Amino acid sequence: MLTRTIYDDEHHLFRDSVKKLYERELLPKIDSWEHNGIVDREFWLACGDAGLLLPDIPEEYGGGGQDFRFNAIILEETALAGTTGPAFGVHNDIVAHYIHNHGSEAVKHEWLSKMASGESIGAICMTEANAGSDLKALRTHAREVEGGFILNGSKTFITNGVNADVAVVAACMGTSPGDKDISLFVVDAASPGYIKGRKLDKVGNRSSDTAELFFEDLFVPRGNLIGGRGNGFRLMMQELPQERLSIAISCQAAAQHAFDITVDYVGERRAFGQPIKEFQNTRYQLAAMKSQLQVGWAHLDNCISALVDKRLTTEQAAAAKLWHSELRYDVVDECVQLFGGYGYIEEYEIARLWRDARVMRIYGGTSEIMKELISRSI
Ligand SMILES: Cc1cc2nc3c(=O)[nH]c(=O)nc-3n(C[C@H](O)[C@H](O)[C@H](O)COP(=O)(O)OP(=O)(O)OC[C@H]3O[C@@H](n4cnc5c(N)ncnc54)[C@H](O)[C@@H]3O)c2cc1C
Repeated sequence: MLTRTIYDDEHHLFRDSVKKLYERELLPKIDSWEHNGIVDREFWLACGDAGLLLPDIPEEYGGGGQDFRFNAIILEETALAGTTGPAFGVHNDIVAHYIHNHGSEAVKHEWLSKMASGESIGAICMTEANAGSDLKALRTHAREVEGGFILNGSKTFITNGVNADVAVVAACMGTSPGDKDISLFVVDAASPGYIKGRKLDKVGNRSSDTAELFFEDLFVPRGNLIGGRGNGFRLMMQELPQERLSIAISCQAAAQHAFDITVDYVGERRAFGQPIKEFQNTRYQLAAMKSQLQVGWAHLDNCISALVDKRLTTEQAAAAKLWHSELRYDVVDECVQLFGGYGYIEEYEIARLWRDARVMRIYGGTSEIMKELISRSI
């Protein structure tokens, strides 16, 4: 890898502390998370204690008061440890930012310090059964009543859906579905009428819990409408670059991890009297992957710097999400090939990495939607 210049000594120290925490608290737990389909809450609390939650939220709200590079280190180290199960991207990079950037002081004080300690876990609720890529088709409805709003509807595919204590929910306030009057609400998951449905049985990324949610006459206080009525899409456009870059960072690090364990494997595995690393095909495939990873890190660092300087545009973030998620899939798939039959056996980590890679081209906006967004800027 080329020397990375975006991080300084403070970042390196932080990275070391994350690695140490993960040796103790994450690596021994991945198998049980995979089996149970959920990350245990004790892990979230340990991460809160160690300063891994809400690193770039101001200290007055319980956050670390740092910049996004600290979030990036957490994403990188989690993927380099071999999992994207703890959905830090959702909690740190998305939900905390909607609340911090658009919530009232009361809402920020109510939720951010609990999110920073790990006592409260966040979820973002956009997708519905008939509204995924086409978010404007969402049907969850918010009706204005005295003192607040009544929400009715349902969401699906919600990351942290089971674990979450606080959710940012998109709902339409218009009179008909498709009405663009979409607003965002900060919702307490303990409220009457907030119903957690099935935990979905996924092909991969199984440590991360993904659930359906139902809202039945759910009362949300007026102050929990964030960003003003009808501004949901504007807010989403504002927050999406960070969300998409966050996925891109995880993808780049996960691809690197797959490459690293594959290099070890092909050095040990022998065929025709020699390590399979010696075959020209293996060497060339590894060389091609190494080159792609080098380019990927350089591009990623450029995007991280741009985000920190508030220069990263929507289409640049979409391009990063597109490119790094496709890179991750291509690299991991090639790595499985180099593992041969063992690459398809569950007890080999590369098999899990392969299953986990697939969804990255789908969630946070599909690759096709990323192309659509990028094409509009041409
Ligand atoms: C594991 C997992 C976790 C998720 N976590 C969350 C979460 O926390 N919160 C949340 O709100 N959502 C979440 N999602 C939802 C995710 O963002 C959506 O699945 C995704 O946006 C695609 O929507 P869809 O599934 O409805 O697919 P569809 O929109 O039905 O798309 C189906 C196909 O049609 C293509 N397509 C659709 N529109 C166009 C177009 N205009 N041009 C070209 N092709 C198009 C798509 O690219 C895709 O290939 C999650 C999904 C998964 C699987």
